[in-house]
Amino acid sequence: MQKVIVIGGGVVGISCALKLQDEGYEVTVLDPGEPGEGASWASCGSIAVSEVVPLSKPGTMRRAPGWMLDPTGPLTLRAGSALRVLPWFLRFAGNARASQIDKISREISVLTRTALADTQAFLGALGLSDLLRHQPVIELYDSAQDLDHERVFHDARRALGFDLEEISGAQAAELEPSIASDFAYAVVLKDWRSVVDAKRFVMDLHKVFVERGGKTKRVGAKGFVREDHKVTAVHDDKGDAHVADQFVIAAGAYSRRLAAELDCPIQMEGVIGYQTSFIDPGVTVEHGLIYAKGGFGITPYESGLAIAGSIEFAHLDAQPNWKRADILVQKAKRVVPDLETRNGERRFGRRPLTPDTKPIIGKVPGMHNVMLATGHGQLGVTLAATTGRLVSEMMTGRQTEIDMSAYKADRF
Ligand SMILES: Cc1cc2nc3c(=O)[nH]c(=O)nc-3n(C[C@H](O)[C@H](O)[C@H](O)COP(=O)(O)OP(=O)(O)OC[C@H]3O[C@@H](n4cnc5c(N)ncnc54)[C@H](O)[C@@H]3O)c2cc1C
Repeated sequence: MQKVIVIGGGVVGISCALKLQDEGYEVTVLDPGEPGEGASWASCGSIAVSEVVPLSKPGTMRRAPGWMLDPTGPLTLRAGSALRVLPWFLRFAGNARASQIDKISREISVLTRTALADTQAFLGALGLSDLLRHQPVIELYDSAQDLDHERVFHDARRALGFDLEEISGAQAAELEPSIASDFAYAVVLKDWRSVVDAKRFVMDLHKVFVERGGKTKRVGAKGFVREDHKVTAVHDDKGDAHVADQFVIAAGAYSRRLAAELDCPIQMEGVIGYQTSFIDPGVTVEHGLIYAKGGFGITPYESGLAIAGSIEFAHLDAQPNWKRADILVQKAKRVVPDLETRNGERRFGRRPLTPDTKPIIGKVPGMHNVMLATGHGQLGVTLAATTGRLVSEMMTGRQTEIDMSAYKADRF
Protein backbone atom coordinates (compact mmCIF):
# COMPACT_ATOMS: atom_id res chain seq x y z
CA MET A 1 0.00 0.00 0.00
CA GLN A 2 1.43 3.41 -0.98
CA LYS A 3 2.08 5.80 1.89
CA VAL A 4 1.10 9.47 1.82
CA ILE A 5 2.06 12.16 4.30
CA VAL A 6 -0.24 15.17 4.49
CA ILE A 7 1.47 18.15 6.13
CA GLY A 8 -1.16 20.20 7.98
CA GLY A 9 -4.41 19.03 9.52
CA GLY A 10 -6.64 22.06 8.90
CA VAL A 11 -9.86 21.74 6.95
CA VAL A 12 -7.97 21.44 3.65
CA GLY A 13 -5.36 18.93 4.85
CA ILE A 14 -7.84 16.62 6.55
CA SER A 15 -10.17 16.70 3.54
CA CYS A 16 -7.27 15.67 1.28
CA ALA A 17 -6.30 12.96 3.79
CA LEU A 18 -9.81 11.47 3.81
CA LYS A 19 -10.16 11.51 0.02
CA LEU A 20 -6.73 9.84 -0.31
CA GLN A 21 -7.83 7.17 2.17
CA ASP A 22 -10.77 6.50 -0.16
CA GLU A 23 -8.24 5.76 -2.90
CA GLY A 24 -6.54 3.12 -0.76
CA TYR A 25 -3.50 5.12 0.40
CA GLU A 26 -2.10 4.72 3.91
CA VAL A 27 -2.25 8.31 5.12
CA THR A 28 -0.48 10.09 7.97
CA VAL A 29 -1.26 13.71 8.89
CA LEU A 30 1.50 15.77 10.52
CA ASP A 31 0.42 18.82 12.50
CA PRO A 32 2.01 20.34 15.61
CA GLY A 33 -1.33 21.69 16.84
CA GLU A 34 -4.91 20.63 17.46
CA PRO A 35 -6.71 19.66 14.25
CA GLY A 36 -7.87 22.87 12.58
CA GLU A 37 -6.83 25.35 15.23
CA GLY A 38 -5.26 27.47 12.47
CA ALA A 39 -7.57 29.44 10.22
CA SER A 40 -10.19 26.71 10.03
CA TRP A 41 -11.66 27.16 13.52
CA ALA A 42 -11.72 30.95 13.16
CA SER A 43 -13.85 30.99 10.02
CA CYS A 44 -17.42 32.12 9.40
CA GLY A 45 -18.07 28.60 8.15
CA SER A 46 -19.90 29.57 4.98
CA ILE A 47 -19.89 27.34 1.94
CA ALA A 48 -19.59 30.54 -0.02
CA VAL A 49 -20.08 29.25 -3.55
CA SER A 50 -20.54 32.61 -5.24
CA GLU A 51 -17.67 34.36 -3.43
CA VAL A 52 -15.80 34.34 -6.71
CA VAL A 53 -14.96 38.00 -7.33
CA PRO A 54 -11.35 38.49 -6.20
CA LEU A 55 -10.56 40.67 -3.20
CA SER A 56 -8.66 43.03 -5.50
CA LYS A 57 -11.97 44.26 -6.97
CA PRO A 58 -12.13 48.05 -7.53
CA GLY A 59 -14.28 48.81 -4.44
CA THR A 60 -11.70 47.25 -2.13
CA MET A 61 -8.79 48.95 -3.86
CA ARG A 62 -10.55 52.33 -3.76
CA ARG A 63 -11.40 52.11 -0.09
CA ALA A 64 -8.25 50.30 1.11
CA PRO A 65 -6.13 53.43 1.82
CA GLY A 66 -8.93 54.95 3.95
CA TRP A 67 -9.53 51.67 5.78
CA MET A 68 -5.82 51.35 6.55
CA LEU A 69 -5.78 54.77 8.19
CA ASP A 70 -8.86 53.96 10.27
CA PRO A 71 -7.98 51.79 13.31
CA THR A 72 -11.54 50.44 13.32
CA GLY A 73 -11.62 49.79 9.54
CA PRO A 74 -12.05 46.27 8.14
CA LEU A 75 -8.59 46.15 6.52
CA THR A 76 -5.26 47.03 8.06
CA LEU A 77 -1.52 46.59 7.67
CA ARG A 78 0.48 45.86 10.82
CA ALA A 79 3.30 48.34 11.44
CA GLY A 80 6.59 46.70 10.56
CA SER A 81 5.09 44.36 7.95
CA ALA A 82 4.75 46.89 5.11
CA LEU A 83 8.04 46.15 3.35
CA ARG A 84 7.55 42.40 3.59
CA VAL A 85 4.06 42.56 2.15
CA LEU A 86 4.86 45.11 -0.59
CA PRO A 87 5.80 42.65 -3.41
CA TRP A 88 2.66 40.63 -2.70
CA PHE A 89 0.54 43.78 -2.57
CA LEU A 90 1.86 45.06 -5.91
CA ARG A 91 0.85 41.76 -7.53
CA PHE A 92 -2.51 41.95 -5.75
CA ALA A 93 -3.05 45.51 -7.08
CA GLY A 94 -2.13 44.27 -10.57
CA ASN A 95 -5.18 42.02 -10.38
CA ALA A 96 -7.56 44.97 -9.97
CA ARG A 97 -7.92 45.48 -13.75
CA ALA A 98 -11.43 44.74 -15.04
CA SER A 99 -10.16 42.05 -17.43
CA GLN A 100 -8.33 40.30 -14.58
CA ILE A 101 -11.34 40.53 -12.24
CA ASP A 102 -13.42 38.87 -14.92
CA LYS A 103 -10.91 36.12 -15.64
CA ILE A 104 -10.21 35.33 -11.98
CA SER A 105 -13.93 35.29 -11.12
CA ARG A 106 -14.48 32.71 -13.84
CA GLU A 107 -11.53 30.61 -12.69
CA ILE A 108 -12.65 30.62 -9.05
CA SER A 109 -16.21 29.81 -10.10
CA VAL A 110 -14.95 26.69 -11.90
CA LEU A 111 -13.97 25.41 -8.44
CA THR A 112 -16.85 26.78 -6.36
CA ARG A 113 -19.55 25.66 -8.82
CA THR A 114 -19.29 22.10 -7.51
CA ALA A 115 -18.30 23.04 -3.95
CA LEU A 116 -21.67 22.53 -2.25
CA ALA A 117 -22.33 19.24 -4.07
CA ASP A 118 -18.76 18.10 -3.31
CA THR A 119 -19.17 18.99 0.37
CA GLN A 120 -22.55 17.27 0.63
CA ALA A 121 -21.24 14.12 -1.08
CA PHE A 122 -18.05 14.14 1.02
CA LEU A 123 -19.89 14.52 4.32
CA GLY A 124 -22.64 12.09 3.29
CA ALA A 125 -20.12 9.34 2.50
CA LEU A 126 -18.54 9.83 5.93
CA GLY A 127 -21.88 9.81 7.78
CA LEU A 128 -21.40 13.49 8.70
CA SER A 129 -24.25 15.17 6.80
CA ASP A 130 -25.40 16.81 10.02
CA LEU A 131 -22.39 19.16 9.82
CA LEU A 132 -24.19 21.40 7.30
CA ARG A 133 -27.05 23.78 8.06
CA HIS A 134 -29.78 24.18 5.45
CA GLN A 135 -30.36 27.94 5.61
CA PRO A 136 -28.88 30.33 3.03
CA VAL A 137 -26.76 33.32 4.08
CA ILE A 138 -28.00 36.94 4.06
CA GLU A 139 -25.84 39.95 3.19
CA LEU A 140 -26.98 43.29 4.64
CA TYR A 141 -26.73 46.83 3.25
CA ASP A 142 -27.26 50.16 5.02
CA SER A 143 -28.20 52.15 1.93
CA ALA A 144 -29.07 52.00 -1.76
CA GLN A 145 -25.67 53.55 -2.46
CA ASP A 146 -23.83 50.72 -0.68
CA LEU A 147 -25.82 48.16 -2.66
CA ASP A 148 -25.21 50.04 -5.94
CA HIS A 149 -21.44 49.75 -5.43
CA GLU A 150 -21.77 45.97 -5.25
CA ARG A 151 -24.49 45.43 -7.85
CA VAL A 152 -22.07 45.05 -10.74
CA PHE A 153 -20.41 42.16 -8.88
CA HIS A 154 -23.76 40.62 -8.00
CA ASP A 155 -24.66 40.71 -11.70
CA ALA A 156 -21.31 39.12 -12.56
CA ARG A 157 -21.99 36.33 -10.07
CA ARG A 158 -25.49 35.79 -11.51
CA ALA A 159 -24.01 35.66 -15.01
CA LEU A 160 -21.80 32.82 -13.78
CA GLY A 161 -24.92 30.91 -12.72
CA PHE A 162 -25.11 31.70 -9.00
CA ASP A 163 -28.35 32.45 -7.21
CA LEU A 164 -28.61 35.84 -5.45
CA GLU A 165 -31.90 37.52 -4.59
CA GLU A 166 -32.17 41.22 -3.75
CA ILE A 167 -34.79 41.98 -1.09
CA SER A 168 -35.70 44.98 1.04
CA GLY A 169 -34.39 45.44 4.57
CA ALA A 170 -37.94 44.89 5.86
CA GLN A 171 -38.17 41.55 4.05
CA ALA A 172 -34.79 40.59 5.48
CA ALA A 173 -36.02 41.38 9.00
CA GLU A 174 -39.03 39.15 8.40
CA LEU A 175 -36.77 36.32 7.30
CA GLU A 176 -34.32 36.87 10.16
CA PRO A 177 -36.06 38.69 13.04
CA SER A 178 -32.85 39.04 15.07
CA ILE A 179 -31.44 41.76 12.78
CA ALA A 180 -31.92 45.53 13.11
CA SER A 181 -35.05 46.75 11.35
CA ASP A 182 -33.40 49.67 9.53
CA PHE A 183 -31.27 47.96 6.90
CA ALA A 184 -32.17 49.36 3.48
CA TYR A 185 -31.50 46.21 1.44
CA ALA A 186 -30.30 42.66 1.69
CA VAL A 187 -29.14 40.01 -0.71
CA VAL A 188 -30.06 36.41 -0.02
CA LEU A 189 -27.19 34.18 -1.12
CA LYS A 190 -29.48 31.31 -1.93
CA ASP A 191 -26.90 28.71 -2.86
CA TRP A 192 -24.69 29.28 0.21
CA ARG A 193 -24.84 27.14 3.32
CA SER A 194 -23.03 27.28 6.67
CA VAL A 195 -21.39 24.58 8.72
CA VAL A 196 -22.99 23.91 12.10
CA ASP A 197 -19.72 24.58 13.89
CA ALA A 198 -16.32 25.49 12.46
CA LYS A 199 -14.41 23.62 15.15
CA ARG A 200 -16.59 20.50 15.20
CA PHE A 201 -16.43 20.37 11.40
CA VAL A 202 -12.68 19.76 11.46
CA MET A 203 -12.65 17.68 14.65
CA ASP A 204 -15.30 15.27 13.30
CA LEU A 205 -13.41 14.85 10.02
CA HIS A 206 -10.29 13.97 12.02
CA LYS A 207 -12.24 11.52 14.16
CA VAL A 208 -13.49 9.62 11.11
CA PHE A 209 -10.00 9.73 9.55
CA VAL A 210 -8.52 8.04 12.64
CA GLU A 211 -11.41 5.54 12.90
CA ARG A 212 -10.66 4.50 9.32
CA GLY A 213 -7.03 3.77 10.22
CA GLY A 214 -5.44 7.17 9.50
CA LYS A 215 -2.49 8.21 11.65
CA THR A 216 -1.88 11.65 13.09
CA LYS A 217 1.41 12.88 14.55
CA ARG A 218 1.69 16.04 16.66
CA VAL A 219 4.82 17.34 14.95
CA GLY A 220 5.64 20.14 12.55
CA ALA A 221 7.33 19.47 9.22
CA LYS A 222 10.66 21.26 8.95
CA GLY A 223 12.44 20.09 5.84
CA PHE A 224 12.64 17.41 3.20
CA VAL A 225 14.98 14.63 2.15
CA ARG A 226 15.29 14.86 -1.64
CA GLU A 227 16.54 12.42 -4.22
CA ASP A 228 16.60 13.69 -7.78
CA HIS A 229 13.10 15.00 -8.45
CA LYS A 230 11.46 13.23 -5.54
CA VAL A 231 11.05 13.69 -1.82
CA THR A 232 11.69 10.53 0.17
CA ALA A 233 11.05 11.78 3.70
CA VAL A 234 10.05 14.80 5.71
CA HIS A 235 11.97 15.92 8.80
CA ASP A 236 9.95 17.09 11.78
CA ASP A 237 10.73 19.66 14.45
CA LYS A 238 11.72 16.90 16.89
CA GLY A 239 14.42 15.54 14.61
CA ASP A 240 12.56 12.48 13.30
CA ALA A 241 12.18 11.59 9.63
CA HIS A 242 8.89 10.35 8.15
CA VAL A 243 9.18 8.27 5.01
CA ALA A 244 6.42 8.10 2.39
CA ASP A 245 5.80 7.66 -1.33
CA GLN A 246 3.78 10.85 -1.81
CA PHE A 247 3.49 14.15 0.08
CA VAL A 248 0.83 16.86 0.26
CA ILE A 249 1.69 20.29 1.66
CA ALA A 250 -1.52 21.68 3.18
CA ALA A 251 -0.12 23.76 6.03
CA GLY A 252 -2.27 26.83 5.37
CA ALA A 253 -0.35 30.10 5.52
CA TYR A 254 2.79 28.22 6.59
CA SER A 255 2.88 26.27 3.33
CA ARG A 256 4.94 29.07 1.81
CA ARG A 257 7.91 28.24 4.05
CA LEU A 258 7.69 24.54 3.25
CA ALA A 259 7.36 25.17 -0.48
CA ALA A 260 10.44 27.40 -0.31
CA GLU A 261 12.38 24.41 1.06
CA LEU A 262 11.61 22.74 -2.27
CA ASP A 263 12.73 25.79 -4.28
CA CYS A 264 9.12 26.69 -5.02
CA PRO A 265 8.66 30.37 -4.13
CA ILE A 266 4.87 30.65 -3.89
CA GLN A 267 3.23 34.05 -3.51
CA MET A 268 1.08 33.92 -0.42
CA GLU A 269 0.49 35.97 2.74
CA GLY A 270 -1.13 34.86 5.98
CA VAL A 271 -3.89 37.44 6.33
CA ILE A 272 -5.14 37.50 9.90
CA GLY A 273 -8.84 37.33 10.75
CA TYR A 274 -10.54 37.14 14.15
CA GLN A 275 -13.51 35.35 15.61
CA THR A 276 -15.33 35.86 18.91
CA SER A 277 -18.10 33.45 19.82
CA PHE A 278 -20.74 33.87 22.48
CA ILE A 279 -22.18 30.77 24.06
CA ASP A 280 -25.05 32.78 25.52
CA PRO A 281 -25.72 35.65 23.07
CA GLY A 282 -29.23 36.36 24.42
CA VAL A 283 -30.72 36.16 20.94
CA THR A 284 -31.49 33.43 18.40
CA VAL A 285 -30.02 33.88 14.93
CA GLU A 286 -31.13 31.40 12.25
CA HIS A 287 -29.09 32.49 9.23
CA GLY A 288 -25.47 33.23 8.56
CA LEU A 289 -25.24 37.02 8.13
CA ILE A 290 -22.70 39.20 6.35
CA TYR A 291 -22.21 42.91 6.97
CA ALA A 292 -19.62 43.69 4.31
CA LYS A 293 -19.33 47.34 5.29
CA GLY A 294 -18.18 46.24 8.73
CA GLY A 295 -15.95 43.53 7.28
CA PHE A 296 -17.44 40.64 9.26
CA GLY A 297 -19.96 37.85 9.29
CA ILE A 298 -22.17 36.45 12.04
CA THR A 299 -22.71 32.71 12.11
CA PRO A 300 -24.92 30.74 14.50
CA TYR A 301 -22.67 27.87 15.60
CA GLU A 302 -23.63 25.10 18.00
CA SER A 303 -20.89 26.31 20.31
CA GLY A 304 -22.07 29.93 20.22
CA LEU A 305 -22.86 32.87 18.00
CA ALA A 306 -19.65 33.70 16.13
CA ILE A 307 -18.62 37.17 14.96
CA ALA A 308 -15.75 36.71 12.51
CA GLY A 309 -13.87 38.81 10.00
CA SER A 310 -11.24 41.54 9.60
CA ILE A 311 -8.36 41.57 7.14
CA GLU A 312 -5.01 42.27 8.75
CA PHE A 313 -1.75 41.98 6.86
CA ALA A 314 1.00 40.97 9.26
CA HIS A 315 4.08 38.77 9.05
CA LEU A 316 3.71 35.06 9.76
CA ASP A 317 5.06 35.20 13.31
CA ALA A 318 3.08 38.29 14.37
CA GLN A 319 0.93 37.90 17.48
CA PRO A 320 -2.80 38.65 17.24
CA ASN A 321 -4.06 42.14 17.98
CA TRP A 322 -7.20 41.27 19.96
CA LYS A 323 -8.42 44.86 19.78
CA ARG A 324 -9.47 44.07 16.23
CA ALA A 325 -11.66 41.22 17.46
CA ASP A 326 -13.25 43.58 19.99
CA ILE A 327 -13.97 46.14 17.27
CA LEU A 328 -15.92 43.52 15.32
CA VAL A 329 -17.96 42.66 18.40
CA GLN A 330 -18.86 46.32 18.94
CA LYS A 331 -19.90 46.63 15.30
CA ALA A 332 -21.94 43.43 15.47
CA LYS A 333 -24.54 45.22 17.59
CA ARG A 334 -25.37 47.30 14.52
CA VAL A 335 -26.54 44.05 12.90
CA VAL A 336 -28.00 42.19 15.89
CA PRO A 337 -28.96 44.88 18.41
CA ASP A 338 -29.96 42.43 21.18
CA LEU A 339 -26.61 40.64 21.11
CA GLU A 340 -25.22 40.14 24.62
CA THR A 341 -21.46 40.11 24.61
CA ARG A 342 -20.47 38.41 27.86
CA ASN A 343 -17.81 35.69 28.08
CA GLY A 344 -16.76 35.72 24.45
CA GLU A 345 -14.24 33.13 23.32
CA ARG A 346 -11.68 34.60 20.91
CA ARG A 347 -9.72 32.94 18.13
CA PHE A 348 -7.64 34.12 15.25
CA GLY A 349 -6.44 32.53 12.05
CA ARG A 350 -4.19 33.34 9.11
CA ARG A 351 -5.97 32.99 5.79
CA PRO A 352 -3.50 31.70 3.21
CA LEU A 353 -4.10 34.34 0.53
CA THR A 354 -2.52 34.52 -2.93
CA PRO A 355 -2.37 37.82 -4.88
CA ASP A 356 -5.02 36.55 -7.31
CA THR A 357 -7.24 35.06 -4.55
CA LYS A 358 -7.07 31.64 -6.26
CA PRO A 359 -5.87 28.55 -4.41
CA ILE A 360 -2.77 26.60 -5.33
CA ILE A 361 -3.65 23.00 -6.13
CA GLY A 362 -1.14 20.86 -7.97
CA LYS A 363 2.38 19.48 -8.08
CA VAL A 364 5.37 21.37 -6.74
CA PRO A 365 7.20 22.25 -9.97
CA GLY A 366 10.12 19.91 -10.56
CA MET A 367 8.97 17.41 -7.90
CA HIS A 368 7.24 14.22 -9.01
CA ASN A 369 5.66 13.26 -5.70
CA VAL A 370 4.82 16.47 -3.81
CA MET A 371 1.54 18.35 -4.18
CA LEU A 372 0.43 21.71 -2.82
CA ALA A 373 -3.11 22.23 -1.52
CA THR A 374 -3.11 25.72 -0.09
CA GLY A 375 -3.79 29.40 -0.76
CA HIS A 376 -7.55 29.09 -0.28
CA GLY A 377 -7.81 32.56 1.28
CA GLN A 378 -11.46 33.27 2.10
CA LEU A 379 -12.62 29.95 0.69
CA GLY A 380 -10.87 27.13 2.54
CA VAL A 381 -14.02 25.72 4.14
CA THR A 382 -15.92 26.15 0.88
CA LEU A 383 -13.32 24.39 -1.24
CA ALA A 384 -11.96 21.77 1.17
CA ALA A 385 -13.98 18.85 -0.22
CA THR A 386 -13.42 19.95 -3.82
CA THR A 387 -9.68 20.28 -3.19
CA GLY A 388 -9.56 16.84 -1.57
CA ARG A 389 -11.28 15.34 -4.60
CA LEU A 390 -8.97 17.08 -7.08
CA VAL A 391 -5.81 16.15 -5.13
CA SER A 392 -6.88 12.50 -5.00
CA GLU A 393 -7.70 12.50 -8.73
CA MET A 394 -4.33 14.01 -9.60
CA MET A 395 -2.35 11.76 -7.28
CA THR A 396 -3.92 8.63 -8.76
CA GLY A 397 -3.15 9.91 -12.26
CA ARG A 398 -6.80 10.32 -13.26
CA GLN A 399 -7.81 13.10 -15.61
CA THR A 400 -9.52 15.92 -13.70
CA GLU A 401 -12.72 17.20 -15.26
CA ILE A 402 -11.42 20.75 -15.08
CA ASP A 403 -8.24 22.34 -16.42
CA MET A 404 -5.96 22.74 -13.39
CA SER A 405 -3.48 25.15 -15.00
CA ALA A 406 -5.21 28.19 -13.44
CA TYR A 407 -4.28 26.91 -9.96
CA LYS A 408 -0.61 25.94 -10.57
CA ALA A 409 2.06 26.97 -8.07
CA ASP A 410 4.26 28.61 -10.71
CA ARG A 411 1.58 30.85 -12.25
CA PHE A 412 2.71 34.04 -10.51
C1 LIG B 1 -12.23 35.32 10.14
C2 LIG B 1 -12.24 34.30 9.03
C3 LIG B 1 -13.44 33.99 8.40
C4 LIG B 1 -13.46 33.03 7.38
N1 LIG B 1 -14.65 32.67 6.81
C5 LIG B 1 -14.68 31.71 5.86
C6 LIG B 1 -15.91 31.27 5.31
O1 LIG B 1 -16.99 31.71 5.69
N2 LIG B 1 -15.88 30.32 4.35
C7 LIG B 1 -14.71 29.78 3.89
O2 LIG B 1 -14.74 28.94 3.00
N3 LIG B 1 -13.53 30.15 4.43
C8 LIG B 1 -13.49 31.10 5.38
N4 LIG B 1 -12.30 31.51 5.91
C9 LIG B 1 -11.07 30.97 5.35
C10 LIG B 1 -10.76 29.59 5.87
O3 LIG B 1 -10.85 29.58 7.26
C11 LIG B 1 -9.37 29.18 5.40
O4 LIG B 1 -9.26 29.33 4.01
C12 LIG B 1 -9.11 27.73 5.75
O5 LIG B 1 -9.30 27.52 7.11
C13 LIG B 1 -7.71 27.33 5.35
O6 LIG B 1 -7.57 26.00 5.73
P1 LIG B 1 -6.16 25.32 5.74
O7 LIG B 1 -6.37 23.92 6.14
O8 LIG B 1 -5.46 25.61 4.46
O9 LIG B 1 -5.34 26.15 6.84
P2 LIG B 1 -5.39 26.08 8.43
O10 LIG B 1 -6.75 25.89 8.94
O11 LIG B 1 -4.64 27.28 8.90
O12 LIG B 1 -4.60 24.77 8.76
C14 LIG B 1 -3.22 24.66 8.52
C15 LIG B 1 -2.67 23.64 9.49
O13 LIG B 1 -1.30 23.43 9.17
C16 LIG B 1 -0.59 23.27 10.38
N5 LIG B 1 0.82 23.56 10.13
C17 LIG B 1 1.42 24.77 10.01
N6 LIG B 1 2.74 24.60 9.81
C18 LIG B 1 2.97 23.26 9.80
C19 LIG B 1 4.13 22.47 9.63
N7 LIG B 1 5.34 23.01 9.44
N8 LIG B 1 4.00 21.12 9.69
C20 LIG B 1 2.78 20.54 9.88
N9 LIG B 1 1.65 21.26 10.04
C21 LIG B 1 1.75 22.60 9.99
C22 LIG B 1 -1.26 24.25 11.33
O14 LIG B 1 -1.02 23.88 12.68
C23 LIG B 1 -2.72 24.12 10.94
O15 LIG B 1 -3.41 23.17 11.71
C24 LIG B 1 -12.25 32.42 6.96
C25 LIG B 1 -11.06 32.71 7.62
C26 LIG B 1 -11.05 33.63 8.66
C27 LIG B 1 -9.75 33.90 9.38
